[in-house]
Order: sequence, then C-alpha cells, then structure tokens
Amino acid sequence: MLLRLPTTLSEARQCLAEGAVPVGGATLVWALWQRDGFPEQAMSLRELPEANRTERQALGAAVLLHQVDDRVPEVLRGAASTVGTGAVRRTATVGGNIVGSTLRCLLPAALVLNARATVLDRDGAYETDLGEVVAKRHLLLGIRWQDPVASGYRKEPGEVGGPPPLVVATAVHTGGDGRHHLSVAVRDGYEVITGTAGCHSGPEQLFRDLERTGLASLPEPAREAVRREAAGILDRLGDR
Ligand SMILES: Cc1cc2nc3c(=O)[nH]c(=O)nc-3n(C[C@H](O)[C@H](O)[C@H](O)COP(=O)(O)OP(=O)(O)OC[C@H]3O[C@@H](n4cnc5c(N)ncnc54)[C@H](O)[C@@H]3O)c2cc1C
Repeated sequence: MLLRLPTTLSEARQCLAEGAVPVGGATLVWALWQRDGFPEQAMSLRELPEANRTERQALGAAVLLHQVDDRVPEVLRGAASTVGTGAVRRTATVGGNIVGSTLRCLLPAALVLNARATVLDRDGAYETDLGEVVAKRHLLLGIRWQDPVASGYRKEPGEVGGPPPLVVATAVHTGGDGRHHLSVAVRDGYEVITGTAGCHSGPEQLFRDLERTGLASLPEPAREAVRREAAGILDRLGDR
C-alpha cells in the first residue's frame, strides 16, 4: 500500500482522483485491511494545513482526539476526551470519528454547535452539512461553527462491549433576536436526535418546548438526562 501525504488541496484532489482511500489513525481500518486486503493507495491528511486547524471556531479532520484542547468549546473537548482509551485518543482523528466510526461521539457535539463540514471532492473544497458527510462519507477536511455562549457534554458510563452509552450534548447560542437558544443532541443507541428551544422563559418552559421537538421520542431516562443537562447549562448562564 502506498501512503500518500498531500500538503496542498490540489495534491489531495489528485490523490482522490487516483483512488487513494482516506485514512486517519487507522484505529478502525487496520484490522479490516488485514482481514480483507490493503488498498493500493491510502491518503492521510496529517500534512495538510487545512485539516490540522484547532481554533475557537474550527477543527481539522486530521487533528488527533487527544489534541482537542480548550481552544474549542467545552462540548467538543468533552466529547473527544471521553472516546475509547488514551491509546485510541492518541491515534484516532476527528475525521475518522465523525465519518468512519459507528459511535461518532463527536457528532452530537458538532450538531449542537450547528457545525458545517468542509469537504473535498475532485472539483475542490466546499461546505456542506454533517448529515450529508455522514451519509455520503465525503472526504472531510474539517468542521466550522459559531462560537456558543456556553456548552456541555455528558456521556453516561458504559460497559466494554455493552450498548453505546447515552450522550447528551448541549450548546447555547444567541439568536438574531439577541435571545439565548439551547440546542440539544442526544445519542441514544446509534441514533442521534436533536432539539432546540428558547431559554428566555425559564427552565420549565424550556423543558416543555424541548418536549415538542424530536427529543420527545426518547425514553424517560434519556429525557430526564436532557432536563438535567439543560438545567445545568442554564445555571451556568444565570438564566434561571
Ligand atoms: C478500543 C476502542 C474504543 C473506542 N471507543 C469509542 C468511543 O467511545 N466513542 C467513539 O465515538 N468512538 C470510539 N471508538 C472509535 C474511534 O473513535 C475510532 O477508532 C476512530 O474515530 C477512527 O479514527 P481513525 O482516525 O483511526 O480512523 P481510521 O481507522 O483511519 O478510518 C476509519 C474510517 O474513516 C474514514 N476516514 C478517516 N478519516 C477520514 C476523513 N478525513 N474523511 C473521510 N473519511 C475518513 C476511513 O476511510 C475509514 O473508512 C473506539 C475505537 C476503539 C479501537
């Protein structure tokens, strides 16, 4: 297998055109390749500047999970810091997690930030939404978002080999009307469900409004976890 390390977007496009398969830290693909055979060419984005950003409002796909630090909002940092083991986090990448893993702990965090994905195809780089990236497995260069007022991430304890633990990601954004809105994303099983409601009428109204979103379909323990996380973030904001 030839491992290609493009340093510019045009080199990365060339690699794609020549059939190179994206690879992050190979924490998932290595075993698959050993079983099914290695591709002729793979492409790592680790030398590509556009895929290595860690900023207040942007995170590159080649950034290792253990490098996701306090330059990014709490919700993303919390998500990255609770993936797998230390050894996995020192090797696995943001892109491999969002596009390549089934658990995708970073996805609920990115969704509550209203993150947009920057992807690359043979015609060049463009922005799209995360749902499209996950469904079509585009080559992800990175994600960008608007800085939230506050955010939080809660992952319930899970057992090795057991069902995916419940994840509740939250972020408060200031709307065009100057009011705070709470976005919630819950990973229940392998499914991620989202909901948004205004914070200005207090916690009870916020909970009622969240119950009018897709979050209402969650089982009671998950809805209780949502209320807890929502109350916690309102407390931190001083909105109650
Ligand atoms: C022991 C263990 C525990 C784990 N626990 C968790 C957990 O708690 N939560 C969780 O979310 N995940 C968990 N994972 C999965 C972990 O997050 C993945 O191993 C990791 O995200 C894959 O990242 P990688 O960079 O190694 O990807 P690779 O193994 O290199 O690639 C995986 C797939 O993603 C594709 N890919 C990689 N980069 C890109 C890109 N930039 N654009 C498009 N496609 C790309 C590859 O083509 C491949 O199909 C665990 C894994 C292990 C081994």
